[in-house]
Amino acid sequence: MKTVYLDFAGATPVDPRVRDGMEPFYSEIYGNPSSMHSFGREAAEALESAREKVAGLLSAPKSKNIVFTSGATEATNLAIKGIAGRSSNKKEIIISAIEHISVTNVCRYFQKQGFTIKTVGVDEYGFIDLEELKKAVSKETALVSVMYANNEIGTIQPVREVGAITEDAGVPFHCDATAAVGKIPVNVVGDKIDMLTISSNDMYGPKGVGALYMRDGLRTEPLLHGGGQERGIRSGTQNLPGIAGMGTAAELAEKEMEKRAAHLISLRDPLIKGILDSVPESYLNGHPKKRLPNNAHIRFSYIEGESIILSLDMIGVAAASGSACTSKTLEASKCLTAIGLSHEEAHGSLQMTLGPSNAMEDVKYVLDNLPAIIKRLRAMSPLAPREEN
Ligand code: PMP
Repeated sequence: MKTVYLDFAGATPVDPRVRDGMEPFYSEIYGNPSSMHSFGREAAEALESAREKVAGLLSAPKSKNIVFTSGATEATNLAIKGIAGRSSNKKEIIISAIEHISVTNVCRYFQKQGFTIKTVGVDEYGFIDLEELKKAVSKETALVSVMYANNEIGTIQPVREVGAITEDAGVPFHCDATAAVGKIPVNVVGDKIDMLTISSNDMYGPKGVGALYMRDGLRTEPLLHGGGQERGIRSGTQNLPGIAGMGTAAELAEKEMEKRAAHLISLRDPLIKGILDSVPESYLNGHPKKRLPNNAHIRFSYIEGESIILSLDMIGVAAASGSACTSKTLEASKCLTAIGLSHEEAHGSLQMTLGPSNAMEDVKYVLDNLPAIIKRLRAMSPLAPREEN
């Protein structure tokens, strides 16, 4: 059976060039980067080279602004706990209404510690309300956390405007750029971002590796205490094969970004248009233009996303009904309800995220099969209006 993978937001394959670059770090270059002998120095050089490549992708001023972590969740925890956790007088965190669960759940933790969490609303496309953000920032604000692009509906936020507001207010700005980095240009200085979360697997690097960009002069509390690696901010021997892989993935993403985006958009737009044209009562979630190049997110009236996913899976198509990180909960997506959808509408959504291995024949396969799937599911749905005989 033909298989079509359309869940690159859930996980990406490791680019073979990245995998080749990781190989020597298992059994050949195995020294501890903190050791003083030649084996250690060789490992430390590789570590610093990866750091430079990641810094380059983000246009960070110095490679030492990059702290390697075990992934995006750890980077975000380090950012928010590192800043809010050491704030003795400011007890307020501001986030947007469509942040990833790795941000919202850290905020819940702080709420239990007595913090106020202010949630700034978004419009129907998922763009943050900048006026509301401006009003929300106060002398009590310890941190603002707004994502770069939404991992579900693909909307790209006006990050530079958010950065201007936080800079004016003198409040640290953390940005979860996991979904954006490698797909669209990110410039931490231009965007006035103080801390930025990224993950390797979202750009065809290995899983379980990520990084936090921290601008010079920020003082944070570490999550992990130990040997003082990563300038004391993240103790523990670095995962060198993974970090080397992330470095190569970042270097390739920087070099190939334009070409990759053009390929993804050339598939995304016909996929979206093809579905909207062929399926009645189907609607695009997120903004038609200001969206990630690989994201198609469509909602269908009267049916459930899960039943569409299962039907697609039966014909070899892997798609998602929302973030893999929240798939264990039965709740409607907070992102979709925040953009104004009812619970029924939110549950009827299908997320397809494209990658470099997809081709037009994959799009065609979906377009050839999806309309009949939707029709069949609607015929069984008690919510769908019955056709008159
Ligand atoms: N933030 C966003 C926007 C994500 O999409 C994800 C998942 N890829 C994460 C954070 C968490 O990433 P990780 O599983 O690497 O910790």
